[in-house]
Amino acid sequence: MGLHDEARKQVLDAAIGMTRRGLLVGTGGNVSVRIGDLDLLAITPSQRDYLELGPDDICVVGFDGTPVEGALAPSVETRMHIAVYQARPDVNAILHTHQVHASVFAVLGEPIPALTDEQVANLGNTVAVVPYGLSGSETLMANIQAAVANKCNAFVLQSHGALLLGLDVERALRNVELLEKTAHAYQMALATGKAVCRLPEDVEAAVFDLLKSDQRVEVRRKRKAKEARA
Ligand code: 13P
Ligand code: ZN
Repeated sequence: MGLHDEARKQVLDAAIGMTRRGLLVGTGGNVSVRIGDLDLLAITPSQRDYLELGPDDICVVGFDGTPVEGALAPSVETRMHIAVYQARPDVNAILHTHQVHASVFAVLGEPIPALTDEQVANLGNTVAVVPYGLSGSETLMANIQAAVANKCNAFVLQSHGALLLGLDVERALRNVELLEKTAHAYQMALATGKAVCRLPEDVEAAVFDLLKSDQRVEVRRKRKAKEARA
């Protein structure tokens, strides 16, 4: 047992839940949570069957890449998770999946526009395509870091999978489900050959503003906590 057991258990529970739901496929995908404001994250180990792991197998790594807890090698995408936490102080949990319906848009290299208010309220006003980079590469890390500046919480990774962000692990998990539902519905709508309705632009802007305002509250909370400690 270590100092960060709660975060490690959250990561493992999320990884097991997503595996059982068929959202990860094989040993693909990875899960992390930010640990307080300590510049640490708890993240799944690389290439493991999450159903066979215990909380002690989850890695704790510093934002400078230093291993802190756990004997297994951390996910190859660890630096990508760190880059997102550094670029988006509102984000406290990151889920990378190989979920099927979102993967349709990953292999098409096509974004998903704003279709429903529920989608925009949680995922943001678009599901953008992050240009291709090999798993674990500097290119993928840089492409993702640039993409998340749009303040959205869902992305498709070209020719690869999906990336979901959240204020906490519960919301990140909800975003996985919402992306899958949205991608599935959009794919079926496109298959009819009929025109697809976009959410009215004024509604899209107003609902996205609410999400961004929640994100700013979290950023301010972190800034105040840091100032209080200084
Ligand atoms: P890891 O098993 O190293 O986390 O890699 C899985 C993956 O999906 C890489 O993109
Ligand atoms: Zn992957």
